Amino acid sequence: MTAQPAHPTNAANLANLANAANPADAANPAKQIRNVCLLGATGSIGQSTLDLIAAHPQRFRLYAAAAHTDVEGMLRVITQGRPSVVAMASPDAAQALSARLVAQGIGGVTVLSGTDGLNTLASAADTDMVVAGIVGIAGLSSVWAAAKAGKTILLANKEAVVCAGALLVKVCAQSGATILPIDSEHNAIFQCLGLQYRCFTRPLEVRRLLLTASGGPFRTWSVQQIRAATVAQAIKHPNWSMGQKISVDSATMMNKGLEWIEAHWLFAMPMDRIQIVVHPESIIHSMVEYSDGSTLAQLGAPDMRTPIAHAMAWPDRMSAPSPALDWAQLSALHFEQPDPERFPAIGLARQAMQAGACATICLNAANEVAVAAFLQGAISFGAITDAVDDSLQKLAPQMPAPQTLEDVMAIDQELRLHLAATLGLPAGAASGQGRGAGGGATGSGGPGTLGGPGGTVASIGAQA
Ligand code: NDP
Ligand code: MG
Repeated sequence: MTAQPAHPTNAANLANLANAANPADAANPAKQIRNVCLLGATGSIGQSTLDLIAAHPQRFRLYAAAAHTDVEGMLRVITQGRPSVVAMASPDAAQALSARLVAQGIGGVTVLSGTDGLNTLASAADTDMVVAGIVGIAGLSSVWAAAKAGKTILLANKEAVVCAGALLVKVCAQSGATILPIDSEHNAIFQCLGLQYRCFTRPLEVRRLLLTASGGPFRTWSVQQIRAATVAQAIKHPNWSMGQKISVDSATMMNKGLEWIEAHWLFAMPMDRIQIVVHPESIIHSMVEYSDGSTLAQLGAPDMRTPIAHAMAWPDRMSAPSPALDWAQLSALHFEQPDPERFPAIGLARQAMQAGACATICLNAANEVAVAAFLQGAISFGAITDAVDDSLQKLAPQMPAPQTLEDVMAIDQELRLHLAATLGLPAGAASGQGRGAGGGATGSGGPGTLGGPGGTVASIGAQA
């Protein structure tokens, strides 16, 4: 075991890594094993992906993993998946992780830090496939780096598309990057569009996309009950097990609003040809209605390992440890229209999309800040959509249209500061760098550091 210098730069860490032989490549000259870069490795999407990599060691290898602050979680990822390189967005967490690796005698793992470190992993030459599982706009910069590098991107991070859809379409067209949706609804639509379909193109002979929604935990509640809902009630999704932010988004149905915009960009369809249908059983994950009147649906148990496995193996198929549907138990499938009065989030998403790119950044920023404030007990459940509504009316019209990624990040940051002040939160609480939305800024991102040289220094784990 060779100890590394205490504080090499990200660049020096990467140089060391480039010199290290990849045993998987050596054993497979034809490179049948694909190197996965897992962004958001410590989260719910991260764990589902790790399960699939573990189930298919002959097809995939965890090459790189990234998270924000969760050192213990990243240690579990390293023990389970043995990546060559990891990155923590928080420099302090990267330092702490390096120290833990040395203390535990775990070698062979390079540790990078900061947004720069994450972007490096996402665009590294050895990365074959990027799983974008970071929550919130915090994931945008690494999705962008992967897109610019022409990678295959398995996209869960819907907020990146909501905030920068038009720009991502362009950068993927320039680089040849491939987007494979793993958000379950979008993956379902992608499956129903057939093997020849590619994202960002208008599908042929399609009348409508039907985006299903579970309706969340408050589907049958009154407006008064919903507005007074507690955190415990909001994060208890009836069908899916997910991270906290998306669980609250499902409860407000903002998740469906964000997915509506996501579907608009991914499938190049106008919003009015994408219909939201509430389907409480979450068995049909979405549908495509063709011009000949045929409607194709994708069905499955509500388990994210199915859409992720589909995208990992695409254009082939591979097994996933998801449960099979039990047709004896499935006596009926139900469908309803979403109620705009009890769930105003869907209408807000439409308004934002009609108003333009700046308004969708505003929709997302207001929602991230308000959800974080709700989870911290600072505002009520009903105040989440009130804050989004207020921001769309008052703040979005004042912002210039974004032309670049840096513009998107700058607009997002400015909106967060306004929102923090409006909601009476400390400014740091509104940073986009926390788990989901605003939980603890680290200064590891923002427009000033995007793609810039010399990311924050992290120490390095011992080399085996
Ligand atoms: P989780 O909260 O479970 O995990 C979030 C992950 O993002 C963690 O690894 C976290 O790291 C990381 N992260 C948070 N902030 C940052 C940051 N600033 N820099 C780097 N990493 C960061 O979320 P989910 O897995 O539930 O969701 C992830 C994304 O996937 C979301 O966009 C969600 O909408 C989407 N999605 C999720 C589904 C699900 O079933 N969970 C289904 C469909 C879409 P750390 O642990 O260190 O904080
Ligand atoms: Mg979804």
